[in-house]
Amino acid sequence: MKKPLILLITGAPGCGKGTQSKLIVEKYQLHHLSTGDLLRKEVDNKTELGQLINQYISIGKLVPDELIINLLAKKIDSLLESEFNGVILDGFPRTLPQAETLEEMMNKKEISTDILVDVSVKEEELIDRLLKRGKDSGRADDNLETIKHRLNVYRSQTQPINDYYQGLSKYVQVDGMGTIEEIFTRIENEVEKIVSLK
Ligand code: AMP
Repeated sequence: MKKPLILLITGAPGCGKGTQSKLIVEKYQLHHLSTGDLLRKEVDNKTELGQLINQYISIGKLVPDELIINLLAKKIDSLLESEFNGVILDGFPRTLPQAETLEEMMNKKEISTDILVDVSVKEEELIDRLLKRGKDSGRADDNLETIKHRLNVYRSQTQPINDYYQGLSKYVQVDGMGTIEEIFTRIENEVEKIVSLK
């Protein structure tokens, strides 16, 4: 049996990873696990956990590693119980401990992550996109103050995972400027290289 395709997508808030993930999922028939969506669902359901999560998301902080790792581990376990083509992890890992835990977890299951795709976009463009999205989506964390904080959090906590995956020879940076189609073609070219080796 072919090994499943395990893609990770990262980038600063507003880089378009959610949009690109949806296109990749369609093209390669993968599961889409967006940790941001999972967390927002908990918040919308107004569970106790959701209220706790909202205290972090609403001010642009990352939720604690332990919380997100537990949530994601359950989802990955249930995926692995079924036969599946592959998955794209959108927004995970977002810290070094998350990356290390994910790699350990996959190794134990004798599965390997394939690549971390880093969608790179200039800061002015990120802020512009997020402010526009805030008007349409009503996402509480898409306001200027929270956006600036999220960008700082990205630089200090998330960017270090790029070096970690570079060290594993599983890192590729893709230019995230241009149209959705142009960016998708760049990502698709990288994914094709992996698919052809499977
Ligand atoms: P996103 O939809 O990916 O932009 O994520 C929205 C928010 O959810 C982030 O600003 C964090 O507060 C939280 N979040 C999403 N993924 C993670 C993660 N892997 N670790 C911690 N917090 C996360």
